[in-house]
Parts: sequence; structure tokens; C-alpha cells
Amino acid sequence: MGRAPYLLLWLFTFGILISMLIIPNQSRTEIVAYSQLKQMIRDGTVAQAIVAQHEITVIRKEAAGTDPIRFRAVTPAQGDPELLPLLEKENVTVTALAPSEGSLLTYLLPWLVLIGFYVWLQRRMMGQMGGGVGPGGIGELFKGRFSKPTDQRSRVTFADVAGQDQAKKEVAELVEFLREPERFQQVGAEVPHGVLLMGPPGTGKTLLAKALAGEADVPFFSTSGSEFIEVFVGVGAGRVRRMFEAARKAAPAVVFIDELDSIGRTRGTGLGGGHDEREQTLNQILAELDGFDDKAAVVVLAATNRPDVLDPALLRPGRFDRHVVLNLPDKTARRAILDIHARELPLADPANLDEIAAGTPGFSGADLKNLLNEAAIAAARRRANTITEADLQEARDKVMMGTVRTLAIQPEERHRLAVHEAGHTAAAFYTPGADLLYKVTIIPRGRALGGTHMLEKEERHTLPEDYLRSQLVILLAGRAAEQELIGTVSSGADDDIKRATALARSMVARWGMDADLGPVDLRQSEDHPFLGQTIAQPHEHADRTAARVDDAVIALLKEASDEAARLITEHRSQISSLVGELESQEVLDREQIEACLSDGGNVRPLKRPQH
Ligand code: ADP
Repeated sequence: MGRAPYLLLWLFTFGILISMLIIPNQSRTEIVAYSQLKQMIRDGTVAQAIVAQHEITVIRKEAAGTDPIRFRAVTPAQGDPELLPLLEKENVTVTALAPSEGSLLTYLLPWLVLIGFYVWLQRRMMGQMGGGVGPGGIGELFKGRFSKPTDQRSRVTFADVAGQDQAKKEVAELVEFLREPERFQQVGAEVPHGVLLMGPPGTGKTLLAKALAGEADVPFFSTSGSEFIEVFVGVGAGRVRRMFEAARKAAPAVVFIDELDSIGRTRGTGLGGGHDEREQTLNQILAELDGFDDKAAVVVLAATNRPDVLDPALLRPGRFDRHVVLNLPDKTARRAILDIHARELPLADPANLDEIAAGTPGFSGADLKNLLNEAAIAAARRRANTITEADLQEARDKVMMGTVRTLAIQPEERHRLAVHEAGHTAAAFYTPGADLLYKVTIIPRGRALGGTHMLEKEERHTLPEDYLRSQLVILLAGRAAEQELIGTVSSGADDDIKRATALARSMVARWGMDADLGPVDLRQSEDHPFLGQTIAQPHEHADRTAARVDDAVIALLKEASDEAARLITEHRSQISSLVGELESQEVLDREQIEACLSDGGNVRPLKRPQH
């Protein structure tokens, strides 16, 4: 992708060259020997001659007027004194060209034009990347790829950012500085110029930066770190310089650099290409940050979801020294985000958003916005005027797990699928303290063939040990049910085993939940998810300790698996009725699940779920 503009440039040049080669053929000039050409004149077949210093071109009588073939010959070096009298004698119309015409300039002109155009195009391209040149022309072609750092007036305000109260508060402190920089400068107050917004994707980092510019009513310049990668060396740095220059000119202003980690990784550890370019760009950003005097009322916000990989130089005092953390929203914040984005939507009952907010733990602000959009699309497809609860639920499942897939599943496999899901559901139902069951389905969606959906009873910030142990039982109960009701296990438990193992490993190696090993951080490798500022470095362990961790993990999983098997055996008849019901209905909601599992299989007549 990064080479596309070059390719275009070369194609263009190549095209011009080819056309230059072709054009003489198109005007049909044949090069002939001088003697041959003179013979034509003698034969009286020539109507017109164009005589230049070193060559002569003739057009024959019969061809004149239409699309004449021209014959051209180079005249002898010493000239031919017979030529002019001969032309006169044969009554040929003679046009004489001045020495410069038809000679050097004629040859050089296309080349000059070509080179000029090439230079113009290249400057234009650089201009686009550097953000300096106005719209129009071929430069527009590259706009999509090298979007120029924009100076927009942002109309977003803090009211558009729901939740994130702490982050909002910290960023809001800068509003006054941007509004009245003089007031701060007068008393010699040093206001932080660099703010690092840290948080998982979609939590509103860009939104918050825009809101700052919007609240202060100052220009907003934004760019993304990833745009600097793939570009040839030197351009990124130039672009950074130009953007800061523009921002200084427009000061007070907000500069936003998204995905700072893609350029701001620790120097000297670049993977693959683009390394030099990244370092240069990073150095330029550092230089710009250092170059702010206190008069420049420019605030630079940068966003990242990998603060752990950032070059420490970026975080030094005077650079991105103020750190603002944005977290995934909790239930109340999710409700507030849904409210903001549902402002313009015709909801059948706004109270439905409560349940959606409760049922979307782990969703980011961007996910919630997407959910509402999907629900609106679903309503439009139904040609309905309002968005119903069913639209919202469907959208939630879609965003969480992907779209429903049509997959040909054989009855036998379908039965196994139902047994597997019934196992998870039953374990969740019979385990005290587990999350609330919400829905079970054997409709394939996204990558999953079926699903048991649970809702957290309340927002959890720490996970107690007994809750985690019950999670292991629930995860392994699908497999246990297959074993108990069908007699064999299958590969369907692949993801369950993976997740259970990862969880058990965390319990042992991170959270000290194995009595023998105790509270020791025994992680083998660095974890990558966003964890605020602290990321544990990998440790070296003795092989003996590593083996003990493995043993403890295996023991935890074995215990959970046995407990799952016990639960399934104990409630076998109820589970069988759940399997039957699931096979016939494909989706069961909370009430239907309860009906199967608590009454020993006497299913109450229930409404058919919407699907
Ligand atoms: P990030 O920069 O953290 O990846 P964005 O700011 O680009 O996330 O968020 C994408 C979109 O999600 C925003 O434009 C906004 O519509 C929505 N969004 C995210 N967080 C919030 C929030 N806290 N309040 C309201 N909308 C949000």
C-alpha cells in the first residue's frame, strides 16, 4: 500500500515514454535515405517539402490533404547545392525552418515537460504527506492513504463523553489554559504540554482529545502513528515538523497523535522494516515536545493501548508526563454511553437499555455505539419504525459473537452440540455463586457453534477464588456432559479447555491460589492485555518450580472436571430434557432453562423466543 503512489508515478512516466515512442508512428513519418528522397522529388511525386538545417521532410502529392505519410531524410553534412534548384524545378512548396526549430528544443521539450511534471508530482505527494498543500490535482489521489494532519474545529464537548470521569477531570484542567494561556503565563505557571491517554481500543481516547479542543474552541490537529510506517525515510519526521509548525501558528491548539505506540516503541527494538523511519519520526516528536517554550499554547495528546512498549524517553518530564487512564466502562457508564448514542434513535422503550447495559460487560464505548447501530439496521430491515428489545438483543449477540451462520450440521453432531451446551448450562445453573444464566443456543454464530450466555450478577472488579473454581467447572462441563450422555468426548471442547487452562494457570502462577506454591508471581511470559501502567516482566524459574506450576494447574483442572462430571451425573434426567428442548427450539431463554432444570423435565408451555 505504501508504495502505491510510487507505482502510480512510475506508471505515469512509463506511459509518457511509451506514448513518445508511439507518437512518431502515429503521424506516420518514414525515415528514408537522402538519395531515395531526392529521387522522389525528381520523379515529380512530391508536393511539399519542409527543409530544416540538417534534415528534409517531404509529403507526396497523392497523399496531400488526407493523413499524409511523411518521408524524412538527413541531409548530407556539407549540404546539397542541387536540392533547392531541384525543388523549384519540380514546383514543390518549400517551407524552411529556422535552425532552432525542429532541432534541439523539439527534442528536449517533451523531456523538460516530463521532468518538470515529475518534480511537481513528487513535491505534491510530499506536500500531501506533510500536510502543507491545498486540495486539488493529482495530490487528491493520495489523500486517502496519506491523510494530511487536519486542523478541524471540533464540535465535540465533554457532554459527549460518558463515564471516564477521572480522565475527563484531568483533561478538563487544560481547557482553561487553552482558553486563556496569557493568564497562566503571567504568573509563570507551567502547564503540561504532553498528555498520554492510555486505555483499550474504543474507550474514547480520540473522543476525549476532540472534546478538549471543542470545549476550549481551539483548532484540532490530528494524525495517527500508523500513518508514518511504510512511508520512506524522512517523510514522517518532516510531516511531524510541519504539523507542529502549523499548530504553533494556529495556537492555542490541540495536537492529537493516535496509536503513539506504532512509532513510539522503545528505540532499537524495531521488528522488521520501517525501523529507521520510525526512529526519525520519534526523534522528531521528542524534539518538538522539547522545543515548546512556555509561550506556545499547544497541548499535545497522544493515545496508546500499549503503554508498556513505549520508549521511556517519551514519558520523561516535559514530554508525555501526564498520564490519563481510560478504562472499559462499568455498568453505569455503559448505560450513560448508550444514552448518548441513542439520543437520536427511535427506541420502543428506552428502559430496554438497562438490560443491554447490564448484559455487555467488557464492551467498549465503540462497541456500544456499534451495537445501537446494528439494532437500528435490524429495525430498518424489518421495516419497523422503532427499535425493539429483540433488535437490541440480536445486535448485542452479533457484536459479541458475530453473525448467525448457516451451517449444515448433521443430526448426530447437532445432538452432541446440544448435549455440550446443556452441560455448560446445567453446571452454571447448579453452581452456587455462578453468573446468571441468560440464554443457551445451538445456532452457530461467528466462530462458535453454540453458546451458553451468562450475565454477571453485579460488576466485578476482583474475582474471588470460589467464583474462579466454579468457572472452571462450568467451562469443563460441556465435555463432561458429552462423556456422560454420549459416552465419548469430542474436539468441541477445544476452546473450553484452552480457556480453562489459561484461567487455572493464572490462578496458580499469578494469584497465589495454590496452597503449596503460595503467593508467588510465576508467570512464564509477559501478558499483553492492557493493564494500566504496570506490566510484569517475565521471570526466570527453576525447572523444578515450572514443573510444580504445571502439576498444580493439572490438579485444579482435574478437580474441576471431576466436579463437573459429578454434577452432570446427579442431574442427568433434567439435563436430558434440556437437551431435547434445545434440539427442538435451538434457543432457550432464562425461564425455559429454569423450567427444564428445576422441574425434572416438565417443560411449561413457553413463548417461542424471537429468532
Ligand atoms: P479510542 O480512540 O479510545 O480507540 P474512540 O474515541 O475512537 O476510541 O471511540 C470510538 C467511538 O466510540 C467514539 O467516536 C464514540 O462515538 C464512542 N465512544 C467511545 N467511548 C465513549 C464514551 N466514553 N462516551 C461516549 N461515546 C464513546
